[in-house]
Amino acid sequence: MRFSGWRVLREGLTGNRGWQGHWRDPDPKPQYDAVIIGGGGHGLATAYYLAKDHGMTNIAVLERSYIGGGNVGRNTTIVRANYYLPGNSEFYSHSLKLWEGLEQDLNYNAMMSQRGILNVFHNDAQRDSAVRRANAIINQGDDAEILSRDQLRDMVPLLNYANNRFPIQGALLQRRAGTARHDAVAWGFARGADQRGVDILQNCEVTGIRTEGGKVIGVETSRGLIRAGKVAMAAAGRSSQVAAMAGLTLPIESHVLQAFVSEGLKPIIDHVLTFAEGHLYISQSDKGGLVFGSYLDLYASYAARGNLPMVEHTMEACVAMLPAIGKARLLRSWGGIMDMTPDGSPIIDRTSIEGLYLNAGWCYGGFKATPASGQCYAHLIATDRPHEAAAGFRLDRFETGRGLMDEEATGAQHNLH
Ligand SMILES: Cc1cc2nc3c(=O)[nH]c(=O)nc-3n(C[C@H](O)[C@H](O)[C@H](O)COP(=O)(O)OP(=O)(O)OC[C@H]3O[C@@H](n4cnc5c(N)ncnc54)[C@H](O)[C@@H]3O)c2cc1C
Repeated sequence: MRFSGWRVLREGLTGNRGWQGHWRDPDPKPQYDAVIIGGGGHGLATAYYLAKDHGMTNIAVLERSYIGGGNVGRNTTIVRANYYLPGNSEFYSHSLKLWEGLEQDLNYNAMMSQRGILNVFHNDAQRDSAVRRANAIINQGDDAEILSRDQLRDMVPLLNYANNRFPIQGALLQRRAGTARHDAVAWGFARGADQRGVDILQNCEVTGIRTEGGKVIGVETSRGLIRAGKVAMAAAGRSSQVAAMAGLTLPIESHVLQAFVSEGLKPIIDHVLTFAEGHLYISQSDKGGLVFGSYLDLYASYAARGNLPMVEHTMEACVAMLPAIGKARLLRSWGGIMDMTPDGSPIIDRTSIEGLYLNAGWCYGGFKATPASGQCYAHLIATDRPHEAAAGFRLDRFETGRGLMDEEATGAQHNLH
């Protein structure tokens, strides 16, 4: 089934009776060439690119719950390529280029909206840092502009310029950045992978990883033993738990990050806005809700729900930066489990066990990485060599100290990210 304007029109005129399910619901086979643990954005994208780029179709994605129920369906949907450090900047640049062609590639409307991201700065030190970042982004080949306070005011008059607890001096703008509909990304990759023969197995929890003589041979699941020559972990916040099934200890702590959405409002915010003070980020969804978030809850947890102190902090930051939205009502909030690495950068690498691969450590920034992560991870799984765009995401950097990419400059303290 292909989507097109003509198809939408025809279905509209004939009672919408011709739409089909987007993916099958197969029973697990006893054996696959490769299985992917985790049906989030990264796992599904990996399956898609394994099938599309490498012709590997005898594979399965094993999801303990339903696809899109993890962080891929819980994030604030920001897509950007404004990273500073080598290693990260080329990877996210590659990812944004994939995003720009993704809907055509998948034949699926992921509601990619390049509405621009504005990183507002509040003092000289933050402006210096924004200028350095802008230069790094431009050197990488992506777009970046520094806006003065007046230019920013012309673009976003709604901010509190007059009497702000955090004075506004200007902003770093990346026009190609924006948002995409998060769960449509999961569905689009699932559909694309399924069409190429990949089995997507929901309600199939991996409970053990079987190895023999230092080699992986399969996984134990809630739906029985599944043998596979290659096993690829893509379990995001639960990466440490899954890796422990193979006796591996990861340099990852799991923390909660909350997000919030307001009642639907008329269009008032045209861009993605982020504020360096208060670490607030906010955009407006197509339904009119303001979607926003701020810090981690700052303690390790596997609970996909947050606590009130961070709710209070986020609301304070919102009202300080955008007093006009003070009267909007909060509709709902939720939490997701973040796989935090000590340097804030991810891991796409082989492990010490032959045939067992790791994709983890995306912290709170893995949604924008989804297409590139899938493509680079698929390349690694299929060829046993790292993709050049993800060559820096090595696991051993935490052991050797070489090649650390401390994007947030917070050192080894997870709770400072
Ligand atoms: C509130 C919030 C806001 C965010 N905002 C942004 C943002 O604006 N931009 C951005 O780039 N990133 C953002 N992120 C981060 C981003 O969502 C994640 O980094 C990314 O989604 C993680 O990859 P994933 O999609 O594969 O994860 P997930 O969707 O969590 O996929 C992992 C899957 O593994 C499954 N799983 C776990 N254990 C097992 C097992 N034993 N067996 C089988 N399956 C298993 C889980 O059920 C889950 O479905 C945000 C995250 C949160 C929570």
